[in-house]
Amino acid sequence: MKPNRFQYISAQTVPEALSLLNTHQSDVKIIAGGQSLMPMLNFRVVNPQYLIDIGRILELDHISQKDGQIEIGAITPYVKIENSALIQQHLPIVPEVIRHIAHLTIRNRGTIGGSLSHADPASEMPMLMRLLDAYFEIRSESMSYQVSAHDFFLGPLHTVLQNQELLTKILIKVPSPHMGWAFQEFARRSGDYALAAVGITVEMKQQSGKKMIDQLKIAMMGVGDTPLRLSSIEVLMNGQEFSADLLDQAKDKIFKELDPRGDLQSSAEFKKHLASNIFTRVMSDAWERANSYQIGSARL
Ligand SMILES: Cc1cc2nc3c(=O)[nH]c(=O)nc-3n(C[C@H](O)[C@H](O)[C@H](O)COP(=O)(O)OP(=O)(O)OC[C@H]3O[C@@H](n4cnc5c(N)ncnc54)[C@H](O)[C@@H]3O)c2cc1C
Repeated sequence: MKPNRFQYISAQTVPEALSLLNTHQSDVKIIAGGQSLMPMLNFRVVNPQYLIDIGRILELDHISQKDGQIEIGAITPYVKIENSALIQQHLPIVPEVIRHIAHLTIRNRGTIGGSLSHADPASEMPMLMRLLDAYFEIRSESMSYQVSAHDFFLGPLHTVLQNQELLTKILIKVPSPHMGWAFQEFARRSGDYALAAVGITVEMKQQSGKKMIDQLKIAMMGVGDTPLRLSSIEVLMNGQEFSADLLDQAKDKIFKELDPRGDLQSSAEFKKHLASNIFTRVMSDAWERANSYQIGSARL
């Protein structure tokens, strides 16, 4: 199918885009990389009268470090983030996750802001931003505010963004160089949307000669209507010595607490099995990395 007729406008600056959004707010859509929106236009799932292209607004395409935070402009494409020396140095989990998104052609065009605004519960970027406790800058003609990744996602393809608002920037605190991390997902074929995925960051703290789990954060995708943070498991494991028993306890608790919807790809029960099993591998890998920093080896 082809889209319904629309008027295409290429905005050159943020104020111009915000003004256009404000003027046409009941009947407008932003297009960034178009990797999710174009199929939706072609299938006529969305039928805007005006399409505002933000892909040429240079001030939205950047990666920088300021005041202990990494800032990523909303239209920065996946590949640019994946290949950024700054991101590779401070947030090595980010390129690892990006390599699991779709295929290179899609990662060339797709943008971080587009993925977050689209809010597909099976998308990697929303989950990663929840894991890293990111903040998002949102602007309209009348105001600018920040919202946490925790509060941004409301449901499948549903965020706090209003029609007249633009996601302009993603802010991530520079983490400790001792942060261990790991990410794994299960997809039927390479490049497909994953059925489930788990991302973990953790640090190791020495206490009375023992190695304790510290600053543990666990995020999952594909097993809820939004990306999940597993705070009850974080509470269970933080401050404890890492052990096979503790890992089993956490895995059982995850299986009991997850409540995913089944879909055409897999049943809810299968997703619970997948997610809890991936968790044990990812937790072990992240813990191993956290330990390797403490004994003085280079970041893995
Ligand atoms: C074959 C295929 C496979 C894919 N596989 C995966 C996958 O495995 N994992 C994955 O995560 N994604 C996957 N995707 C989706 C891809 O990651 C998209 O790039 C991404 O979801 C949207 O980014 P975009 O820049 O293309 O946004 P667009 O398609 O341009 O826009 C998406 C939505 O966000 C809105 N929007 C865009 N930018 C902004 C902004 N700055 N402020 C407010 N609203 C905005 C648009 O109005 C639209 O509603 C796949 C896509 C395809 C076509």
